[in-house]
Amino acid sequence: MKITGYECVELTGTLEGYDDARTFYEERLAIPLDVYDEFRSIGAEYLMGTDDVMTPYVDEERDEIRVTQTYLRLETDAGIEGVAGPIDREWARLVDSVASLLVGRDALATEKLWDLMYRNEIHGRKGKTMKAISAIDCALWDLKGKYYDEPVYRLLGGPTRTEIPAYASMLGYSVDPADVRERATTMKAAGYDAQKWFFRHGPGSGTDGLEQNLELAEAARNAVGDDYDLMFDCWMSWTRSYAERAIPKLADYDPRWIEEPVHPDRLDQLARLRETSHVPIAGGEHEYTRWGIHQLLQREALDVVQADTFWAGGITELQRICTLGSAHDVPVIPHGHSVSANLHLTAAQSPAVSPILEYLVKWNEGFQFFLEDPPEPEDGVISLDDRPGLGIVIDESVVESRTQVCSSS
Ligand SMILES: [Mg+2]
Repeated sequence: MKITGYECVELTGTLEGYDDARTFYEERLAIPLDVYDEFRSIGAEYLMGTDDVMTPYVDEERDEIRVTQTYLRLETDAGIEGVAGPIDREWARLVDSVASLLVGRDALATEKLWDLMYRNEIHGRKGKTMKAISAIDCALWDLKGKYYDEPVYRLLGGPTRTEIPAYASMLGYSVDPADVRERATTMKAAGYDAQKWFFRHGPGSGTDGLEQNLELAEAARNAVGDDYDLMFDCWMSWTRSYAERAIPKLADYDPRWIEEPVHPDRLDQLARLRETSHVPIAGGEHEYTRWGIHQLLQREALDVVQADTFWAGGITELQRICTLGSAHDVPVIPHGHSVSANLHLTAAQSPAVSPILEYLVKWNEGFQFFLEDPPEPEDGVISLDDRPGLGIVIDESVVESRTQVCSSS
C-alpha cells in the first residue's frame, strides 16, 4: 500500500449550549509572558482562539462560539485513508512541507517514514516541525490500523487493560476558592479519582498572587478530602526562587505532583527542585523526541514524563519514550492534546509505565467537537472500543463549512 497524497481540511462549526458566548472559559492559567504587566492583565480570553487556531472563539457578528479545526488525511492506492487531528492552520502548513517526502512510499513502514522525516527536517527536531511529524505519524498509525482492521492499541501490543482511568484536568475553570470547591466536589462525584488544577499566578503577581495560588490548592484539597490525588500545573511560569517559596507551602496539600514549575530549558532547576522539595515534579510536555526526554531523565529532573503524542514525535516516538521512562522507573502520562492517540498508546503500555490519562474537561468540549463518538470518561474511566485505527471519525452533522488548507496535488 503506497501513499498517494495528503490534504489538510479546515472544518468550522458552532458550539451550542452557552447563553453568553464569552463564558466558555472562565479563567486562564499562568503563562510565561506574565512577567510583563501588559500580558498579566489579559483574562480568560487568552484561551479563546482566533480563526487560526483549534480552540473555540467568539464570533462577534453572530454572538456565537465557533470552532475551527483542521484535520489531516493521508491517501493511499488501496483507497484507505489515515486521519489525524485536530491541528491548526499553521501546523497544517508545516505538515504540507514535511509530508510531500512520503508520497509514493510504503504507507505501512512507519519506522522508516519517521526516520526519513526526522533526518530531512534537521532544523525541525524540536518545536513546531516535530509537531507536524507527530501528526503525520499518528495519521500513519490510523492508516495501519484500518489496513489490518484492528484498533491501533492491538498493533502496539495491547491492550493491557479494557479501560483506562482518566484524571480531570481543570484548565479554563474559575480559580475562585468557592468555585474550585464546587467543581472539585462535582468531579469527584463524577467518578474521577484524580484532578489537576492550574495556577493563575506567578512571580509577577507578588505575595497576593502566591496567596491566591495557595487558596486554590486549599479549596481543592478541602473539597476532595484526604486520600485523593490532586495535581497542580504552573505551566512553566514560575522562577526557581518563586517555586522554592511556593512548593514547601503547597506540600501541606499533599500534591501527587507539581507540574512544570519552571521553564522547560531549566533542566538543572527542575532536578534541584525535585531533590529539595520532596514533592514529585512532572514535566516534559514541551520537550520533544526520545533525546529530549532522555536528557530530563538522565538529570533526574522528573517524577512523571508528560511528552505529548501529537507534539513529541507521534505514536512511533512515544513508544520509545515509554521504554525510556520504564528503564528509569518514571511513569509516562502523556499531555492531553489528543485523547484518541493517548488512549491507544496508553492501552498498549503496562499500567506501571502509563497508569492514567489526562482528560481536559472543559477544553475537550471544543477540542473533540468534530469527533463522532469521541473518547470520554464515564465514571472516571475511558473504555477501549474496537474501531479500526485511532477512531478519529468526523461527525459530519456538525460540520458547517470546510476549506482545504493544503494538499499534495
Ligand atoms: Mg501541563
